[in-house]
Amino acid sequence: MPSNTFVATPKQLAEALGIPREPLEAVHAVYPLRISRYYLDLIKKTGLPLWKQAVPDVLELEDESGLVDPLDEENLSPVPCLVHKYPDRALFLVCSECAMYCRFCTRKRKVGKADMVVNDATIAAGLAYLQRTPTISDVLLSGGDPFMLPIARLDQILTSLRAIPSIATIRIGTRVPCTLPSRVTARLAAMLKKHHPLYINTHFNHPAEITPEAERACARLADAGIPLGCQTVLLRGVNDSPEIMRQLMYRLVQIRVKPYYLFQADLTRGAGHFRTTVDTGVAIMRSLIGHISGMAVPTYALDAPGGGGKIPLTPNYIAKLGETLDFSTYKQLPCSYPNTILP
Ligand SMILES: *Cc1c(COP(=O)(O)O)cnc(C)c1O
Ligand code: SF4
Repeated sequence: MPSNTFVATPKQLAEALGIPREPLEAVHAVYPLRISRYYLDLIKKTGLPLWKQAVPDVLELEDESGLVDPLDEENLSPVPCLVHKYPDRALFLVCSECAMYCRFCTRKRKVGKADMVVNDATIAAGLAYLQRTPTISDVLLSGGDPFMLPIARLDQILTSLRAIPSIATIRIGTRVPCTLPSRVTARLAAMLKKHHPLYINTHFNHPAEITPEAERACARLADAGIPLGCQTVLLRGVNDSPEIMRQLMYRLVQIRVKPYYLFQADLTRGAGHFRTTVDTGVAIMRSLIGHISGMAVPTYALDAPGGGGKIPLTPNYIAKLGETLDFSTYKQLPCSYPNTILP
């Protein structure tokens, strides 16, 4: 990648945004910093909701709440960089880098830091674990961001996975279509196309991130036959309003991305200032369900602290479940349904 693709030092970022360097230095001493020039331009155009996601904030250092490893991923890793939490699927971390280091990242303890070691040995160990654990049929590649790997390296990893007969589905989690869409080239799409059934979950958090460039990146992947989903994180001051979330979900469907999850923010230390209450998320879901196309409605979910897995947090429409089901409609009108079978 050209050396001017990213801003990666406090000095560069302070100059680019005209802000003091010292607070950036203080945060950078603990957490990594990287913003693509592309995303930096978007921040300048659109302001706070994108700024907050990308620009280091001293609040990260002041946050003593939460957990360094909120999902207990290290304890759930039978080999380094592979998280095995559900019987039939595994999360395989194949890259330690991202195109941007999001300030709210659940893995901010390690992503982009020198202590996150991903190399040929960890990838070989992960592949060996998948080979000897045939209950796993669905592998999620993540990191970091797998789209930051050289295309040939990602091709090799996908080829090795496809050689394991027990693996049916491969998913890739990537924020590159949002943070560095120019990296989604025709060559990348042509390579991915060889490894179907392949699914991609990308990550957009705000409608301003859906630019013509992002739309082209997603079109390239969709045209390669890859179903696209989105894993949005509910973030205070970024997208914690029904109106913004409605626009985001609507725009995603327009660029052929099906909203998959809306995550309640994890209890990540250093990211406490991004957390909303669950009430906020439930209210947003009520404002979506029934009011916009079902295709645009994600599942609101909480990844249980300690590694309990993802728990759906759906607004409650059931008032009483007995011989009659009493419920409310999306317009909050009472309704009922006979909950019995005919003799
Ligand atoms: C999220 C996650 C998965 C996949 O969960 P789905 O609900 O199937 O998308 C698998 N493993 C780990 C460790 C995860 O965090
Ligand atoms: S792109 Fe994903 S993994 Fe990378 S810093 Fe952002 S949230 Fe974390």
